Order: sequence, then structure tokens, then C-alpha cells
Amino acid sequence: MFERLSESIGSAMRSLTGRGRISESNVREAMAEVRTALLEADVNLEVVDRFCEDCVQDALGREVTKSLEPGQEMVGVVHDRLVSLMGPVDRHIALVEPGPTVVMLCGLQGSGKTTTCGKLAAWFKKRGQSVMVAAADLQRPAAVEQLQTVIEGVAREATGPGRVAFHGEPDKCAEYGKAVGVAVGVCQRALAQARAGKFDVLVLDTAGRLHVNDELMRELESIDRALEPHSILLVVDAMTGQDAVQSARAFHARMNVDGIVLSKFDSDSRGGAALSVKTVTGAPIKFVGTGERFDALEEFHPERVAGRILGMGDVVSLVERAKSEVSEAEAEEAAEKMAKGQFTLQDFLKQMRAIRRMGPMKQILGMLPGMGGMLKDADIDEKQIDRMEAIILSMTPKERDRVGIIDRSRQKRIAAGSGAKLDDVSRLVKQFEMMQRMMQQMSGMGALGKMKAMKELSRAMPAGGMPGMGGMPGFPMRGSTMTESPKARFKQRKKR
Ligand code: GDP
Ligand code: MG
Repeated sequence: MFERLSESIGSAMRSLTGRGRISESNVREAMAEVRTALLEADVNLEVVDRFCEDCVQDALGREVTKSLEPGQEMVGVVHDRLVSLMGPVDRHIALVEPGPTVVMLCGLQGSGKTTTCGKLAAWFKKRGQSVMVAAADLQRPAAVEQLQTVIEGVAREATGPGRVAFHGEPDKCAEYGKAVGVAVGVCQRALAQARAGKFDVLVLDTAGRLHVNDELMRELESIDRALEPHSILLVVDAMTGQDAVQSARAFHARMNVDGIVLSKFDSDSRGGAALSVKTVTGAPIKFVGTGERFDALEEFHPERVAGRILGMGDVVSLVERAKSEVSEAEAEEAAEKMAKGQFTLQDFLKQMRAIRRMGPMKQILGMLPGMGGMLKDADIDEKQIDRMEAIILSMTPKERDRVGIIDRSRQKRIAAGSGAKLDDVSRLVKQFEMMQRMMQQMSGMGALGKMKAMKELSRAMPAGGMPGMGGMPGFPMRGSTMTESPKARFKQRKKR
């Protein structure tokens, strides 16, 4: 998401950078480029025109033309306007006392309601709230079953102290469409159960249709009247661009939603929905869905998204993810070991796995400043990382602790055990030894020397290591890699 947009806006901004002075017409030219980029990203036309004019006015007001660094200044202007385009956001779901707080999800078919129910259940569970999820989509028994499977998965696998329960009445599907108020009945019984079970939250998974229609709206309104939900969230599929925004407008007009969950934010869509939906509907995006699993839900932060679009990276989100995967203590321990030059292959394996748990490499690297554009057609070879992991796994604990003892015969055994080539094993060993030596040298230096060495190290490794990972200086596969072709080497470098 946003890769192309980010690239085009970046080039428009660069056209202003490095010039001593710029004129109003330079600003307008750059904004014309931005305008094209936004339209290509499927942002609503009216939104685009207003946005660009606002940026020009701000630029003139801030006297960007007289600034010593007009490019920088203009990036600031665009950044602030992007933030106000998507915000402000109240990411809060206010809980009522006594519970249960009723949260109703609505949206078109396939937008991601059922998936989002699971994500919200996990989100509440983590925060110590007990949550019941009710299947109010009675169009097909399979829809009830799907939700049940999702919720049982959350109850089993999601971390946190809250209880998670499911309420479903699949036999009612036969009555759906023949009698009115079938879904309302299910919701009311779920509410009674949630009350009796002292649940803090009741989430309703409602029916969708392929298009907004009156029958669906009447059904949703009847649930709204009967249950009076404290919060109505509209799930919108980011991949459907302007269609998503138009259907969101129709939903909001009838349902007066409190906020939007923009699903499939992890997709390669152009990003138009994220930028238009607030202005067009008046409802802010509260959450984004970043994957199919129940843990792939993030609070929406306009300033981070704006930063990402402008190529400033989204380091904050990355650090947040890293934090949820590695405990502070673990990260500190790793950093300390590195500082003392005691970082082993076993530690390396641990860190690598923590990083991988954060998500696909490509997605993670895309969040690093300046990497988004580079990654456009980079083919991130997760298999190579698999191979590296396999090699380390085939080592004995002693070998992982002291890479120095891995001689030729041990290398042969490891290669056979992991299915890797002998060359790959010896290269990994050599490179890890080199990295260790560097870290050891650094541990002997004073603060100043250390800083210098760190700079050297980060210069050699473009991504500068993973933030929040205890200063881990990226993967140690530098210079030569497991495969020898220059192209593969280039890919490998991008990987960091
Ligand atoms: P519903 O018809 O609105 O209940 O939609 P579902 O929850 O069944 O989701 C439809 C499809 O979208 C499923 O295949 C989900 O796995 C997928 N999906 C939902 N949210 C996301 C998301 O944030 N990212 C990705 N990649 N897929 C999602
Ligand atoms: Mg569903």
C-alpha cells in the first residue's frame, strides 16, 4: 500500500529540494504532480483538489518560497495536510458500566466483518476484557460456522486474561428471509447471555450484501433500534478503492457509524480509500486490518501513515510490533550480549525468529525509512532466511554458543543435516565470526570509539539494523551471500 503514491510524491518533493529559491509557480508545479499521483492512487477527485489547493495556500502562508530549504518545508506542509485529511481519530472504544458494551460491526459482503470480529475479540482479551461474539449473519449456516471457528481460535490461541465466548444459532438460518426480526432475536438472546455471564463486551457480526440495499439497511436499523449498540463500526475493504468509499458514505448516512475499520491494509492496493474515506463520509478510520489472522489489527495513526507516504518510514509501528514480539528484557539482554561481544548464533536465531514473527519481511522492510521505494519489485526471498534458520538448527547447542569450534568436518555434518550446501554453511560461519569480532572490538572501545564503530557498521548495513531489536545490526550476511550472483547479492542487501 502507498508504494507508488509514495514514490510519485517523493519525486515531486525532490523537484523542490536542492534549489536555493523557488517561486509560487514551482510550488504549483510540484502540487500538480502530487495531484496526479493522488488521482492515480484512486483518491476521490474533490478530496484531491481541495487537498492540493490547501497545500498551496499553506505553502504561501508559510512563505515556503523564501525558505532556505524549500523542499523540506514543503514536505512538512504536505505531511500536515495528509494528517488532517485522515484525522483526527479517537481510537477509543468507550466501555460502559455496567457492561456489556455492545459493538456492532457492519459492512458489505467480503469486507472483513467476521475476520474483524475475531481481531476485536483478541484485542479485548489482551486488555483483560471478557468478550462474547454473536453471529447475526444468518444468510448461510456456513457464515455462523465461520465465525464460530474464528472465535474458538481466538479463545484458544490469543493471549490475555479476558474470556472469549461465541453465541450462534445456526438453525435460525432457515427462517432468515422468511420472517422479519430473526437476526434481532439472535442479538437479543446473545445480549441476555452476555449479561448473565458478566461479559464486558458483546460484538455483533452482522450480515452483508454485495451492494448497499434497502433490505440490508432495514435489517441493520432494526438491530440498531433493538440493541442500541454503544459503538457501530463499519468494515471497509481497502482494496475496493472508490467503491469502498461510496458504499461507506451510504452506510454512514443510514447507520451513523462511529468509526471505520479499514481491512486489507496489507494489500497492494493504491491507498485511495485510506485517504478519502474520512473526508467523504465524515467517519474516521479507527483501526486497520493488516492480515488474515486475529492478531493483525492495528490502531490507525494518521501521522504515521502520512510519514510512510512521504518516505519517512513507519518506525514507530515497527518498534511497537517488535515490542509485542520480544520482551523488553529479552531485547536488553541481546543488546548487552552484543556490547560485550558475547552474542552467539543461538541469540541470533532467537532474534531472527522474533523478527519473522512480526510479519513477512517485505512488509517489515517497507516500514523502514527509505526502503519503501527500493522494495517495489524486490523479490524478498524468504526461502533464503529459511535456509539460514535450517543451518543454525542443525548445529548443536555448543556450536551455536561457540561458532569458532565449527571446523570443516562439523560443517559437513551440518550441511548434511540441514540440506544446505557446504559452501553456504561455511559462509554463514565465517560471516558470523566476522560480525562477532567486530562486536568484540567495539566492546573494548571507549564511548567515542564505539560511536564511530557503530557508524561504520551502520554505513555498511544500509537499513541500519532493526529498530527496537536491541540494536541488532541486521543480518550478518554481508558482502557475499549464500548465492553468488550479483543480482542475488543486491537482493540480499535490500533485505536488510
Ligand atoms: P465478511 O463477509 O465481511 O464477514 O468478510 P470475511 O471476514 O469473511 O473476510 C473476507 C476475506 O477477506 C477473508 O478471506 C479474510 O481472510 C480476508 N480478510 C479480512 N480482513 C483482512 C485483512 O486485514 N487482510 C487480509 N489480507 N485479508 C483479510
Ligand atoms: Mg462474515
